[in-house]
Amino acid sequence: MSLATAPRPLRAVLIANRGEIACRVIRTARRLGLRTIAVYSDADARARHVREADEAIRLGPAAAGESYLAIDKVIAAAERSGADAIHPGYGFLSENAEFVAACDAAGLVFIGPPASAIAAMGDKAAAKARMASAGVPLVPGYHGEAQDDALLREEAGKIGYPVLLKASAGGGGKGMRVVESEREFQAALDGCRRESRAAFGDERMLIEKYLTQPRHVEVQVFCDSLGGGVYLFERDCSVQRRHQKVLEEAPAPHLPEALRREMGEAAVRAAQEIGYVGAGTVEFLLDAAAETTQENGSPFFFMEMNTRLQVEHPVTEMISGEDLVEWQLRVAAGLALPKAQNELTLTGHAIEARLYAEDPDNDFLPATGKLLRFTLPLADRDGRIRLDSGVEAGDTVTMHYDPMLAKLIVHGEDRGQALAEMARALAALDISGVTTNRRFLQRLVTHPDFIAAELNTRFIEHHHDDLF
Ligand code: ADP
Repeated sequence: MSLATAPRPLRAVLIANRGEIACRVIRTARRLGLRTIAVYSDADARARHVREADEAIRLGPAAAGESYLAIDKVIAAAERSGADAIHPGYGFLSENAEFVAACDAAGLVFIGPPASAIAAMGDKAAAKARMASAGVPLVPGYHGEAQDDALLREEAGKIGYPVLLKASAGGGGKGMRVVESEREFQAALDGCRRESRAAFGDERMLIEKYLTQPRHVEVQVFCDSLGGGVYLFERDCSVQRRHQKVLEEAPAPHLPEALRREMGEAAVRAAQEIGYVGAGTVEFLLDAAAETTQENGSPFFFMEMNTRLQVEHPVTEMISGEDLVEWQLRVAAGLALPKAQNELTLTGHAIEARLYAEDPDNDFLPATGKLLRFTLPLADRDGRIRLDSGVEAGDTVTMHYDPMLAKLIVHGEDRGQALAEMARALAALDISGVTTNRRFLQRLVTHPDFIAAELNTRFIEHHHDDLF
């Protein structure tokens, strides 16, 4: 069925974002026959997503608060352009329940979950309580309402050090601190609260057992508005720097088939518990040690659910052969999921590397400037290599937004072939004018321990001397 004749007809979509994700959404929307409307700030007046959309509307000055985060301006742009729906991308307004409510009030289709599902997962402590009741395994810890110092210290003691203090309202790796012993607890708590108050205007904390060498394994889920829900397998995002992902791959190496199914089903359960609709990701920590030592306990633990399309969704697209933005648009139009669980298959292996405008030799300081060259002069043999980019040669990289320039995604018949493909693509990338983390990515993907898939979230920290 076409989107224009669906239960909630879609003819024109406004993309409330910028950079690579805006360009990526435009690509699929156009293929499905939708009119595409971009929005932009003054810093992006000539940006690639503006050039590629059918139409573009100015939001305001460069500051995100006055442009990409300004709910009233985005809604006004959608109304003015005659859009039926808004795709929020990731970041910015994508997980903002207030924005979803504003879309509803304006009669615009928000391409994502209902406001209530976003709110249910927006607070980490509340989300954990919900997940516990749905039978989803949690990291041992405290996620209660009471927040006085003495009680939190006592809970930390019960959990057993090391513990991780986490801002309940946190995200993007902010407001988190590892505490090694009771002696350090108070100072860490004070620091964490300060950071959380500044970043999120909220200082509630939760405490978790700090797993020393876990893997980050997340499940892609999809639900429609008719009660259907499936998982599109998992991604391993263990290679992180300061809790931010650098490399992502699918499927997760060495994951036994039974565990893959168990995690997938737990993730769908998590989504359905909160009345989820659309694309979502349920993040788990996988405790590799417990996998072998705890006969009865679950080796994976719910961390949080991201209620949007993730940066790393292309690796899932490559192993499943599905276009997740197409799925999002169909579900938003009120149609059923394109495939049932038993129709989804996993083929080969995919890896994504995030190319950032930053200087790894200078504490990863964001870099700016004019991109003089930026191409990937490689033949894309049967869709095995994909460069999702928000910029082209001639574009200027400013310091206003996230420094991610592009994502390089490769697919191989197996992990070894995907790794070789990634090394080849990184070497072939012709880029100049702006400093990037390319060399750092090359060192990572050619590191013997990465090749051996000895993955855990402290990989970069542990191999510091080899990588810098
Ligand atoms: P954010 O919302 O800020 O991204 P998350 O809760 O998703 O925070 O955690 C981000 C990363 O922090 C995880 O991918 C993992 O590397 C690490 N982490 C989170 N919780 C734990 C834990 N209990 N033990 C060890 N590492 C953790």
